[in-house]
Amino acid sequence: MEINISEAEWEVMRVIWSNQETTSKFVIDTLSEEKSWTASTIKTLLSRLVEKGFISTKKIGNKFLYSPNCIEDECLDILTQNFLDRICERRTHIIVKNIIATDNLSKSNIDEIIELLQEKRKTAEEVITCKCLKGQCSCAAKHG
Ligand SMILES: [Zn+2]
Repeated sequence: MEINISEAEWEVMRVIWSNQETTSKFVIDTLSEEKSWTASTIKTLLSRLVEKGFISTKKIGNKFLYSPNCIEDECLDILTQNFLDRICERRTHIIVKNIIATDNLSKSNIDEIIELLQEKRKTAEEVITCKCLKGQCSCAAKHG
C-alpha cells in the first residue's frame, strides 16, 4: 500500500487524527494563521482528503463533520515502509542513526530501542543483501 499524501494534506490529517470528529471551521481555526492558508485552501485540502479516502464526511445539521478513515500509527507504519522501499536495504542504518542522533528520544524510548536492538541482534544477518537494480545503487561495487 502506498500513501499518496502531500505535506499540506498531512497537516490537515494531524488535526483530524487529534480530534477525531471535527468541523472545517475547527481545522481552519487551527491551521489558517500558523500556515498562512486561506479558508478556501483548507476546504480544498479537506475535499481532496475525502476524494483520496483518508477521511469521511457527514452532514450534521448545517455543518459537515470530518473523521479519519485510518489510524495515525498505522499510517505512520505504512509511510515508514514506503520510505524504506525507496532506499537500498544497506542504507537503512543511516536513517536509524539519523533518528537516534535527534533529541526526540526520551530515556524510556532509548531503553525500549536498546532492548529491541539486543533482541534483533540475535537473528540479524552478518551482511545485508542489496536488492537494488543494477545502476541504481553503488553499494554492490563497494561491498561486492
Ligand atoms: Zn543497494
